[in-house]
Amino acid sequence: MRQATLATVLTDSRRLPVASESKSASQTYLDNRVTKSQRGTKRTRSQRARERLQTKEHLVGLARELYEGELADKLDRCHSRLSVLTCGRHIARIIPNFTCEFRLCPDCGRRRSRKLQTKYLPLMKAFMLHNKVTPVHLVLTQTHRKESRKESAARIRNSFTKLTRRSFWKQYFKGGTWSLEFTKDKNGLHHTHLHIIGFRRKFFDIELLRDEWLAVTGDSHVLHLKPILDLAAGLQEVVKYVSKPLDIRRFGAADLKEFLGLKNMRMFGTFGEFRDFCKDFEPSDNDAMSELESLARDLVEGCACPQCNEPLFDLRMSGKELPQFYEQAESSPPGEVRKRSH
Ligand SMILES: [Zn+2]
Ligand SMILES: [Zn+2]
Repeated sequence: MRQATLATVLTDSRRLPVASESKSASQTYLDNRVTKSQRGTKRTRSQRARERLQTKEHLVGLARELYEGELADKLDRCHSRLSVLTCGRHIARIIPNFTCEFRLCPDCGRRRSRKLQTKYLPLMKAFMLHNKVTPVHLVLTQTHRKESRKESAARIRNSFTKLTRRSFWKQYFKGGTWSLEFTKDKNGLHHTHLHIIGFRRKFFDIELLRDEWLAVTGDSHVLHLKPILDLAAGLQEVVKYVSKPLDIRRFGAADLKEFLGLKNMRMFGTFGEFRDFCKDFEPSDNDAMSELESLARDLVEGCACPQCNEPLFDLRMSGKELPQFYEQAESSPPGEVRKRSH
């Protein structure tokens, strides 16, 4: 298991184009991001769980540095004790002792992005059927300026609003969703990207879209467009920025301080006809959601695991033990149930 994982990591890093100093910063950066997301980094559950723990520890440290004791305590408590309904190999449900709901918390972010996926996937499918449109993933970028994160986000969102009002856009797109992604370059300048799932009416020349983007931004024509073949994966790709708007492990105390000042900034939204469609479908959507939720709620100890039919049991563990649990589940052969007394 460990070898396979290591090999995957090595292959990935070899294929990843390394940002070279000589290339134009924005171009190189965008290429990296897009290739990375297109390939889909395959990390195991245990690796991801470990990363979440590390991110959290890092955030707690930064919060303490800023004398934000309350925030640090909340993060510390969040998902610190878990009640895990499991067959020993699969996890049917995790109930945490406490959720901090802090926007940069990786555990709470994961819950948030799962909620968005549950909500929007059926809506998107219905919208596509109704309107005979196909989804594309569009990444819009802007030139880097000396500005705050807030200013950078406002600038790209304003540009996008202008874009959606143009006749070119209306001719080819029937609404969609947007989410914001933040990063910083090595000079400390903000890179803000908009990830759009756009519902396309028909094909168009990408160069024309570049011209349109340049017209509204005044100085940027850098964008990337790819068709979404698997809607669930495409949506997951876009909502992940809601749970992980930036690379927190490269975050300093000053970054956290700035982020704390952005409390109410929206990171995800809908636009165009898709937005209206979502409003109309809200009631039936809620019904579907609560049904799904109650389905998961109904699972109790002794029920069959939905993935392998083995009986589920309740396992209490600390949040720190979760990566290890995943690791053991990943390496144990199917059917081998790891029971633990508690
Ligand atoms: Zn949390
Ligand atoms: Zn199972």
